[in-house]
Amino acid sequence: MTDHIPFNKPYTAENQLEFINDVLKSDKISGNGKYTKLCHEFFEKRYGFKKCLLTSSCTDALEMTSLLIDLKPGEEIIIPSYTFVSTANAFVLRGAKIIFADSESNSPNIDINRIEKLINKNTKAIVVVHYAGFACNMEAVMKIANKYDLFVIEDAAQAIDNYYIDSKKEKFPLGSIGHLSTFSFHETKNIISGEGGMLVINDDRFIERSEIIWEKGTNRSSFFRGEVNKYGWVDVGSSFLPSELTAACLYAQLLEIDNIQSKRKQIWNKYYTGLYALEKNGNLKLPQKAISSTNNAHMFYFLCKTSKERNNLIKYLNNYNINAVFHYLSLHKSSFYSKDNKVPNLINSDFFSNLLIRLPLYYELKENQIDYIIRKINDFYADLD
Ligand SMILES: *Cc1c(COP(=O)(O)O)cnc(C)c1O
Repeated sequence: MTDHIPFNKPYTAENQLEFINDVLKSDKISGNGKYTKLCHEFFEKRYGFKKCLLTSSCTDALEMTSLLIDLKPGEEIIIPSYTFVSTANAFVLRGAKIIFADSESNSPNIDINRIEKLINKNTKAIVVVHYAGFACNMEAVMKIANKYDLFVIEDAAQAIDNYYIDSKKEKFPLGSIGHLSTFSFHETKNIISGEGGMLVINDDRFIERSEIIWEKGTNRSSFFRGEVNKYGWVDVGSSFLPSELTAACLYAQLLEIDNIQSKRKQIWNKYYTGLYALEKNGNLKLPQKAISSTNNAHMFYFLCKTSKERNNLIKYLNNYNINAVFHYLSLHKSSFYSKDNKVPNLINSDFFSNLLIRLPLYYELKENQIDYIIRKINDFYADLD
């Protein structure tokens, strides 16, 4: 028996305390100071994002997108059912109607082929979620959006430092393709600041207004740049920006991104190799390595054959001190959605709700712990035979 292996363990970057101290000693602890700007620059430079704004969470960033696209009550947003509640709530808050689309049969990402028939005159935007960091088919989504004049919002909460590979083999950072994109730095993600997120604006039309909404509906950002001589209330908005303490944590992590990513990829690959024989035996199904996406090792998941087997495996691993977990429950079947809406039949979303299991994956996970987890999963299937 081994010590408890948690599902996640937040990583502390080397400079984190030093940067936090630096903020505390400065006269600027609220938002949009030195560390916020360093983070914005980092993302804009490394990924070519047109404009970045740190937010207090990805949920906040999603809410900002609903304000930016001027969503009106009754307008419709197409989103995958297999996602986190915030992907839907951000738009429900503005009175929008959520239209759920099914996942692909071989990945939890939205099935692009099912989107077009959900579009009507009320449709305003398509939100795609890059599940486990793996890219949705962005060429196909953008084509549909252009045809019907819709906005595309990438919920890239899990997709930091990952790339979409298009049909010409060209690589584009996730978050750089949709009109607007959102990231999360929640402690369960690859790069973290406790709670935290970011809005990415790739379409010029949204740039000016995004800063205003970010700064409580005021033109304070242009005031501080000296563009206007006083600032006031010019639009709707809210308090979306994080404090400098959060930005300092985030910047320390960003300085180590290559190291963090390479460690996570090693762990991911070790799981993949270690479980490959079980896939060959038909015991389980590993995530498919898509040709149109790189892998940012956000998550290691696989699929069991039945829901009962999946739940038994989770229990079995928990008994051996391994905290494996399932993931999303289809949102179209949630009590909140189903009380007011006709529940569509989305079999692939339900399939992933029922069969998917996630394994511990964090920076400090040790080689011998990964070996132990792989051995226990093999033992479980050996006992079944
Ligand atoms: C984590 C996550 C969110 C929410 O992020 P927060 O920063 O906690 O608000 C939204 N969507 C997806 C797909 C996520 O994985």
